[in-house]
Amino acid sequence: MTLTLQRTHTLYEATVEALSSWTPMLQDSYSAVCWLSIRGVRSEMNPLIEFVKVLPSDPKTAPACAHGPALLFDRVGKKFFACSACRDRKICPLYVPYEQKKPAKTWDDIRDEILPEEAHIEPPATPDDFYRFCESCCRILIDPQCRHRREPISVDLMASPTTFLSQLSNNKCTAQYHFSEETLHLLIDLASRFRKVLCIGTPSVFEHLQHVSHVSSHLADIDRRFEAFFGERVFTWFNAFNALAFRKGDNSELWRFVGSETDESSDAEGLDEFLILVDPPFGGLLGPLSCTLQRIKSKAGCGRTILVFPYFNEAQVKLHFPELKMCDYSVRYRNHRKMKNSSPVRLFTDIPLSSIRLPEDEYKYCPACERWVHKINRHCEKCNACCSRNHEEYKHCDLCSRCIKSKWTHCIKCKRCHLEQQCGARRGVERSTKRPSGSTERRTRNKRGR
Ligand SMILES: [Zn+2]
Ligand SMILES: [Zn+2]
Ligand SMILES: [Zn+2]
Ligand SMILES: [Zn+2]
Ligand SMILES: [Zn+2]
Ligand SMILES: [Zn+2]
Repeated sequence: MTLTLQRTHTLYEATVEALSSWTPMLQDSYSAVCWLSIRGVRSEMNPLIEFVKVLPSDPKTAPACAHGPALLFDRVGKKFFACSACRDRKICPLYVPYEQKKPAKTWDDIRDEILPEEAHIEPPATPDDFYRFCESCCRILIDPQCRHRREPISVDLMASPTTFLSQLSNNKCTAQYHFSEETLHLLIDLASRFRKVLCIGTPSVFEHLQHVSHVSSHLADIDRRFEAFFGERVFTWFNAFNALAFRKGDNSELWRFVGSETDESSDAEGLDEFLILVDPPFGGLLGPLSCTLQRIKSKAGCGRTILVFPYFNEAQVKLHFPELKMCDYSVRYRNHRKMKNSSPVRLFTDIPLSSIRLPEDEYKYCPACERWVHKINRHCEKCNACCSRNHEEYKHCDLCSRCIKSKWTHCIKCKRCHLEQQCGARRGVERSTKRPSGSTERRTRNKRGR
């Protein structure tokens, strides 16, 4: 365990260093540790040790918060229930030790308090010149009692609320970054190969798919505001981490959509059946998400997946979605300062990579790998792969028998390659002189706050 924690700590620091340039929110230690815990720790002995595991639990008896039934976590042997959707206890404080005797309130107990009084009604059907939308009430047809500021919106905007809704900027719970035009184009292209597309947390793609006649689509999102714009048949207020449709549970339209037959007689030939396109917050736990996706696929009887997630979480993705392969395309976001032109975010999918053609100004086809890769990616004969993950040059290290970042050098002491200043051997010595043994564990635990 000491070894693991030691590694964890080194990896934690390395992770913070690597990620902070991309994601300013990670500079605060809490989220860094959250990232670490979902990232897991690699070692030679064990391909991936997950620091925090999610264990199976019964949603009917589990304690609940505003996000529905909690999940049962196991952090290095300590079991507790916590919020499924929100990784920040300042925002969602639910924490119930597994051994707690006093019964906690379940979703059945609190559902009526959490759900809004207003039903999910159809948005206005007869177009007017413009509507007024109240974000606080989450309504277009305004209640005369409402005293909030109301924004006028045109009929055109009604169909694409992601272009004007204020961004929910809390990165730990909801990460509302919308894809750039180029990325949208690629995703819509891929989605158009299917008859039926379920968009989980991808409202901007959903908005565009409304205009693709042969695709039947449904949006599932944890942001309830979309109810004001999309009726019950096409939108479900949904938490993908505990598979909860907030209003009607398993009787919601989402499950009807998933189980529905597609129109085989439609003109477009050669279409695939069903696609799930999911863009979770990067702090989201992949284990529970994969359970939800499996449930959806077994209900649908088939289905392919596109998961949008950072390349540095590849090990985590492999653990929970072994069937998905990483496409080298760098996802871009129109409303993220640092991810407008490139990003560490990739598409993980079981659509054959050879069929995902990427923009030729930046990508090329590698015949040996049978997939499109970034231009900087050079095929390594020894690894028989295009190994670069981050669109930087890689070189082959014969001692490690693998490709590594070109800035790294092989370290005799550590018996592996790393950045010169990140020598674990040297750092280990420094640490043992600075702190008494065991402090790493304590420090890590304090930072997590759980
Ligand atoms: Zn919660
Ligand atoms: Zn209002
Ligand atoms: Zn290659
Ligand atoms: Zn190589
Ligand atoms: Zn090496
Ligand atoms: Zn070293």
